[in-house]
Amino acid sequence: MKDRYQVVVIGGGIVGCSVAYHLALRGPADVAVIERRELTAGSTWHAAGGFHAINADTRIAALQKYTIGMYPQVERESGRSVGLHLSGGIELAGTSERWRLLRSELAWHRMMGTDASLLSPEEAADLVPIVDPAGLFGALFDPEEGNLDPNGATHAYADAARKRGVEIILQNRVLSLEPTHAGEWLLQTEQGSVTAQHVVNAGGLWARRVGRMVGVDHPLTPMLHHYLVTEDIPEVKAIRGDMPAVTDLEGFTYLQREGDGVLLGVYETHPKHWMMEGADWDFGMELFPEDLERILPELTIGFERFPVLKDVGIKRWVYGAFTFTPDGNPLVGPVAGVPNYWAACGCMAGFSQCAGIGLALANWIVDGDPGYDVFGMDVTRFGSYASDDAYLRDTTAQFYARRFVMAYPNEELPAGRPLKTTPCYEDFREAGARFTVNWGLEVPLYFAPSPTFEENETLGRSNAEPIVAEEVEAVRTTAGAYEIAQYARYEVSGPGAERWLDHLLSSRLPDVGHIRLAPMLSEAGRLMGDLTAARLDEDRFWLTGSYYLQDWHQRWFRQHLPPSGVDLRNLTDEQTGFSVSGPASRSILERLVDEDVSNAAFPFLAVRRMDVGTTSSAAVGRISLTGELGYEIVVPVERHRTLWHELRDAGGGLRPIGDRAIDSLRLEKAYGIWSAEFRQDGTPGASGLDRFVAFDKEDFVGRPAVLREREEGPARRLVLLEVDATEADASMDEGIWIEDRRVGVVTSGAYGHHVKKSLALAYLDIDVVEIDPELTVFVIGEERAGRILPEPPYDPTGSRMRDVVLSG
Ligand SMILES: Cc1cc2nc3c(=O)[nH]c(=O)nc-3n(C[C@H](O)[C@H](O)[C@H](O)COP(=O)(O)OP(=O)(O)OC[C@H]3O[C@@H](n4cnc5c(N)ncnc54)[C@H](O)[C@@H]3O)c2cc1C
Repeated sequence: MKDRYQVVVIGGGIVGCSVAYHLALRGPADVAVIERRELTAGSTWHAAGGFHAINADTRIAALQKYTIGMYPQVERESGRSVGLHLSGGIELAGTSERWRLLRSELAWHRMMGTDASLLSPEEAADLVPIVDPAGLFGALFDPEEGNLDPNGATHAYADAARKRGVEIILQNRVLSLEPTHAGEWLLQTEQGSVTAQHVVNAGGLWARRVGRMVGVDHPLTPMLHHYLVTEDIPEVKAIRGDMPAVTDLEGFTYLQREGDGVLLGVYETHPKHWMMEGADWDFGMELFPEDLERILPELTIGFERFPVLKDVGIKRWVYGAFTFTPDGNPLVGPVAGVPNYWAACGCMAGFSQCAGIGLALANWIVDGDPGYDVFGMDVTRFGSYASDDAYLRDTTAQFYARRFVMAYPNEELPAGRPLKTTPCYEDFREAGARFTVNWGLEVPLYFAPSPTFEENETLGRSNAEPIVAEEVEAVRTTAGAYEIAQYARYEVSGPGAERWLDHLLSSRLPDVGHIRLAPMLSEAGRLMGDLTAARLDEDRFWLTGSYYLQDWHQRWFRQHLPPSGVDLRNLTDEQTGFSVSGPASRSILERLVDEDVSNAAFPFLAVRRMDVGTTSSAAVGRISLTGELGYEIVVPVERHRTLWHELRDAGGGLRPIGDRAIDSLRLEKAYGIWSAEFRQDGTPGASGLDRFVAFDKEDFVGRPAVLREREEGPARRLVLLEVDATEADASMDEGIWIEDRRVGVVTSGAYGHHVKKSLALAYLDIDVVEIDPELTVFVIGEERAGRILPEPPYDPTGSRMRDVVLSG
């Protein structure tokens, strides 16, 4: 061991070894992996080694595809077998709804470029003769599934990394991590001290403990998991070559070939945690005695689906621990406020994700940018709320138990809720609100007039749509109030505020008393935020963004903050309010203020302090997300409920509205939002946000890249589509086709209740945008015709929002 490395990766599991290899791929490798015991000594050695590309987040799915594609390269470079079996895999549908979902999954696979196919139950049983097809509706075959040897794969990564100069140091626990004055890390290890510019926490089962060494409490926790391996089975032995893996979705089990027998794993509905804090330091390569009673219900179903298991001997049980996060995806990337510390942990699907994590993290460390949209595994996607043990226990158990359970797009899951509520929560509940959750915060979806109303879980439009339609109509004809607690708000002030923001934001800055939409870009010219900047004073700005991006944005802000002259404060939990919009919104506001809020005195995109009701000095902005005349009223959080009561009681027909109505309203106006149309892998030119970019500003982050994009033109463009859908609307990630060519993808969709059209925002290849063709959109797996709308179907000139009468 040297006394200094550029990067030390803590942990020699599949993830740590892949991170080290990917760092070495990026250049001269002054990298060490420091491992407590042997390589694989955490979860890795006893894993089943299965892998697949499917993930609810398409960006992570793409990185899983990359992971699968890397194994042959690592095998070649290391000269060591990873025991790869690209056998393909079959998902079985035991209900008609599931069969419908698998058909839609087929469309998703096609969109991702995977050659998947549907099978009849009999065809599934032909491929895997130990499957009993009774009661099945069908199956989906995915060629990009398989399994490998976990030990071989980890050693192959380690050897390939070694060949590129990485040092692997075994039997050496990292005992502590201290920041040095030079901004590096001093690691005390069992073999002595070592300095590193960067440390990567790939500590697997111990990652929460490693995080605590630097004061970070990662939301991950170990859980226990069973699989069994059988003696030889004649039907399996008779199969030449690979046998596809099988996931019995309604049965909670997965099965893969293991020699001439099979391995059957169980995702039970009553899961068990183990050592919430992470394994003890002296935990060895240990297994637990199997707990058959706990998994008996699922095992019984498994033995019915694969009847041969009733007669075959069980060679061994594996009952081990691995880590879960609340949403089942890993925690990757830098942590705000802890420079040069990198997370690569919480990975429950190491053999599907190790290379994707390695690639993104290596790019991030070397370039300061992961190179992909990795928000779905970004460590900042959870706030500190998620590390609370009770929350973590509930949400990870929910994820584990629902691993194979049918998920509906309109379903609300109960774990860890309610966690954070606004002061209006009880009022809203009484008013019939049904809630969704945003970064732990309860947020109204819609307000049901009847207390007994229950929404049906469905793949299509639900029975709540008529309620949403009423909320939409209220906004279009009278006024609606939308709680904006789910907006994040940052105050930037001080003598250097203007200069700093002018550099950080790509738009021109607003004048005092005005608001501007302000895209924030990365150096590579990709989107880092669709912020709204309001200038309250000469040197005081408020930036508004999405609530769940608070840690993500603040990490970015802090990376760019100058040493002095700028004061940055997160006001999200202190200042909140309502967005009131609709033709009656002005007259409602007028009942609560003494100010002149006429169009002339308070025009579109003005912002001003005013007394609203009994709250003095509220910040009122003339802005709305619905396309109507509207105002955002922001007050200290302790006045939030009072404001609501005063608005509600002001008369004028104001109706509370929720997220679903906002989606319908914004699509009628073709307005994009973050995480759908605007994402880290998007650009101003493609998304249309370039109209807010001040190209003539001399300097801002990302300027050379956006100038290049303007010159060359974007490769794709955001468009609004009308889709001939009848009982289900597009939602996200549906592929768009012209015959056999994939020409685009949907970013969000909803029924436009006012314009009575099924709408979708989508990125289309630029050549296709220009020819305006007839398109095919796959909605829940079914072909629907779609066409580009040349302008938003509602108020295309924006006259209602600006409250101007356009002549001619
Ligand atoms: C029964 C079972 C079956 C599974 N099946 C599959 C499957 O089919 N497919 C799949 O993709 N995944 C599967 N998994 C999950 C898989 O095992 C994990 O996703 C993967 O192993 C995680 O790898 P890792 O490198 O993040 O963590 P680990 O394997 O836990 O490695 C972490 C390493 O860090 C070391 N370490 C920790 N702290 C320190 C320190 N302070 N100093 C030095 N070293 C330290 C540890 O000794 C350990 O070797 C399964 C898990 C179980 C339990």
